[in-house]
Amino acid sequence: MERVPLRTQTLSRFRRLIGPRESSRVDDALRVARAALDGRRIWHVNSTRLGGGVAEMLNTLLGYERGAGIAVGWLVIDGDAPFFALTKRIHNHLHGRNGDGQGFTASNHRTYARVMRRNLDNLRGTVRAGDVVILHDPQTAGLAAPLRRAGATVIWRCHVGSDRPNEAVAAAWGFLAPYLDAAHAHIFSRGCYVPDALAAARVAIIPPAIDAFSLKNAPLSRRRARAVLRHIGLLAPRPWTGDLRFRRADGSWARVMRRADVVQMEPVPDVRTPVVLQVSRWDPLKDMAGLMRAFAAQSRSLGDAHLVLAGPDVSGVTDDPEGAGILRDCIARWSALPRALRARIHLVSLPMADLEENAVMVNALQRHAAVVVQKSLQEGFGLTVTEAMWKRRPVIASAVGGIQDQIADGVHGVLLGTPGDVAGFGAAASRLLSDRGTARRLGRNAQRRAAAHYLGPTQSRRTLELVSALLARG
Ligand code: UDP
Repeated sequence: MERVPLRTQTLSRFRRLIGPRESSRVDDALRVARAALDGRRIWHVNSTRLGGGVAEMLNTLLGYERGAGIAVGWLVIDGDAPFFALTKRIHNHLHGRNGDGQGFTASNHRTYARVMRRNLDNLRGTVRAGDVVILHDPQTAGLAAPLRRAGATVIWRCHVGSDRPNEAVAAAWGFLAPYLDAAHAHIFSRGCYVPDALAAARVAIIPPAIDAFSLKNAPLSRRRARAVLRHIGLLAPRPWTGDLRFRRADGSWARVMRRADVVQMEPVPDVRTPVVLQVSRWDPLKDMAGLMRAFAAQSRSLGDAHLVLAGPDVSGVTDDPEGAGILRDCIARWSALPRALRARIHLVSLPMADLEENAVMVNALQRHAAVVVQKSLQEGFGLTVTEAMWKRRPVIASAVGGIQDQIADGVHGVLLGTPGDVAGFGAAASRLLSDRGTARRLGRNAQRRAAAHYLGPTQSRRTLELVSALLARG
């Protein structure tokens, strides 16, 4: 088990973004929580420190709570390959996908319990009776009962779910529910994700949020974004690359050093070439291959636009065993495309060794993109969607899961009724690439919506209100 160091950040910098009313609600929630905690700690426990939305949120947002006087810590559990293969299957089932169709067995429970026991021994040395523990996702559910017995107040937060529960979803809850009864409360991103097996009275709905000031979302000039994209190998090089410096959260200066691993014929030829972008983990439910197919099918109506599919270097994300296979499959499909299409499609693996450097790369990609796509087949809640909205990008996204809360179709972006709507994707992309007025209007609305609902302090307020209520109940 690893304890991840957290920064201390100033929450009050969000004031002008969230407005006086929400700021004062946040201040109230902090004051009440400080009193309720009375020196006790809140621990967040998940299964990876990098890759994916949960790590992103813990990494960027907990420092603000810390800066506001809440004693908060972040612990990452250890697992092995059979454990992460099992928890990825549970994850896929919760999204309504029957993964390998094998269901769950007593031997699965033994694999799961073995890893829980090992982590519990380490947790017991760190978490004290009276502390609050927020467990994230299926990988940590089995810790709820023993931590409660050890005197902690336990909340389990689920970041995934399906709009239409089916047999796969039921099988996953059949596996998880017995571990979850012990939690004092459960948090979901959307109401329809809550299974019947969990008591509604103990459920809070809290959508995930982003940090507007992190290196991933902070302002980045067009010139710097282009310099970064030239350096990583996506944009055609120039004799002088440009300014690659960035300022780390600890105040020190650094420079984007690493390059991306880019599968392409040639770099994007010109800074004016419109880029259609999806940033995601290499996960079957993100449907990178489906987007490549849709782009290929619609390429004639998309002028000289290029498609960029960007994800993390697959060796960097330990709790996602599917990444390498999905990337390999995308490369195979890319290789089989006609030459003229291959020239317009780029598969980018971003280095994960330095998370701040990786964040600058994602920021540059999202700001440079003419259109951002999230063609997921299922999505608990898309942080990449909020990130693009915050940057005023016109977004085209599937009307699945939390994305339906994030975007009202035609107001904050364009929703595709079904992820497989290739003609709909083509029509929306071609319109947003040619009609700059619409693209700008959607981008402006998107940023307003992100500021009103999906910035860190609002998520912290809701979480701390829940923590205070549970502590008050004793
Ligand atoms: N991400 C990243 N580098 C990458 C690909 C993704 O930092 O190469 C980040 C992305 O910017 C976002 C998170 O990973 O912050 C993905 O969160 P999301 O909720 O979209 O999906 P999840 O991976 O949690 O299913």
